[in-house]
Amino acid sequence: MRTVAQVVADDLCIGCGLCEAVTSGRVQMAMTPTGSLRPNPLDDFRPEEERVIIDACPGLVAEARADPNLPPDPIWGHHGTMRYAWAADPEVRFAAATGGVLTALGQHLVASKKAAFVLHVGADPAQPMRNRWVMSESPEEVLANTGSRYGPAAPLAGLETALDRSEPFAIIAKPCDLSAIHRQAAADPRIDQLVVARLAMVCGGQSRLTKSQRLLEQFGISEAAVSLFRYRGRGNPGPTRVETWDGRAFEVSYLEMWQDEATWDVETRCKFCPDALGEASDVAVADVWPGGAPTGEDEGFSGIIVRSKVGELLVEEAAAEAQIVLGEPISPRELDRMQPHQVRKKQALAARYEGMADAGVSPIDTHGLRINELGRRLSPAQAADERSGAATRIRAARS
Ligand SMILES: Cc1cc2nc3c(=O)[nH]c(=O)nc-3n(C[C@H](O)[C@H](O)[C@H](O)COP(=O)(O)OP(=O)(O)OC[C@H]3O[C@@H](n4cnc5c(N)ncnc54)[C@H](O)[C@@H]3O)c2cc1C
Ligand code: SF4
Ligand code: SF4
Repeated sequence: MRTVAQVVADDLCIGCGLCEAVTSGRVQMAMTPTGSLRPNPLDDFRPEEERVIIDACPGLVAEARADPNLPPDPIWGHHGTMRYAWAADPEVRFAAATGGVLTALGQHLVASKKAAFVLHVGADPAQPMRNRWVMSESPEEVLANTGSRYGPAAPLAGLETALDRSEPFAIIAKPCDLSAIHRQAAADPRIDQLVVARLAMVCGGQSRLTKSQRLLEQFGISEAAVSLFRYRGRGNPGPTRVETWDGRAFEVSYLEMWQDEATWDVETRCKFCPDALGEASDVAVADVWPGGAPTGEDEGFSGIIVRSKVGELLVEEAAAEAQIVLGEPISPRELDRMQPHQVRKKQALAARYEGMADAGVSPIDTHGLRINELGRRLSPAQAADERSGAATRIRAARS
């Protein structure tokens, strides 16, 4: 049997937090010196706990929660409604990462009492550059945790606490987190009983903390001085803004922060991510900039990808109750042009998985994610490049 220690040694742990939930906090998520959240200690799992984790761990497996009644698309998977959308409340729309749809849907779920709370993440008030999981019980609390947190985040560390409440709840999380929950549902029936909505952001990758630490170095401030660290929002995309306890403020634009992918310090798992598009969610929400990058600020437009009947109903209700506004439909090929990096990655994965095997690491076991089918779109030269690059990356990550 594979072990959590092996997943961590191969650098395929994304730090989702499931290890902490399954061990009821005996194993905790802790920040490593290289800026990633990893379970600690690695030798304190009971055999039955480790078996359950291995069956769901994003470092080993990813599974779509596809609704076969919805039309499939080779890139985007089974989907229902795909269209522009944004939060109807201008305050939410302005504060949120993009159009505020995730926040507005979360607010709708708690306001309508369909969910007693939303399990998601936000800045840690004691260390605002870092993240913590939260259970937001009111629309105001959901809004207080709006926005994208690009650094390490472990929403599933809160899963056991959430399930223990025995109340219906919603989850907002990254696609890898939601795949882990979907897999974990086989071992824990409370998940399908209690989780009333699974909402994802389309995800280009989680940065290690080093990315944010470098920004502080650039500003010449220490982490202890930081009172606010906002990656984006208050505009779309809005600047990355850092404030200090003694009243200073620093900003860089979204493009200054993210234009050069080589500076993202992205987790190894992200380079091999078979589902960054939220195929285990009820609704996934994306940026919709043509070409994949902003050319300026706008009022905040998101793209929604509905993936289940639950998601369709949620979107219909939230629109009928004027919590979100629905815009024009978006076709899968238009979405390709808004997310070209996702299309490239999805097509490259089959070759990257061969590279993983070359480096002696088992590729992520994928279910319903069309990796081999899409891999055939690469030319032999492209596939060879992806394969050797992946093997090099894995060897470097393990050394
Ligand atoms: C690491 C990361 C990478 C991303 N990459 C892309 C990309 O490549 N393409 C793209 O289209 N969009 C990407 N996004 C998503 C995009 O930034 C927006 O989050 C998305 O469009 C939803 O916007 P919104 O205004 O509806 O979200 P908001 O209304 O601002 O709500 C965001 C919600 O997500 C939760 N959340 C934030 N960060 C995390 C996290 N790290 N883990 C779990 N939950 C979190 C918050 O708690 C909040 O509830 C990424 C987001 C993250 C966090
Ligand atoms: S379950 Fe999550 S936290 Fe545990 S090893 Fe896997 S990715 Fe890491
Ligand atoms: S790219 Fe994939 S593995 Fe990385 S954080 Fe996003 S969903 Fe998770």
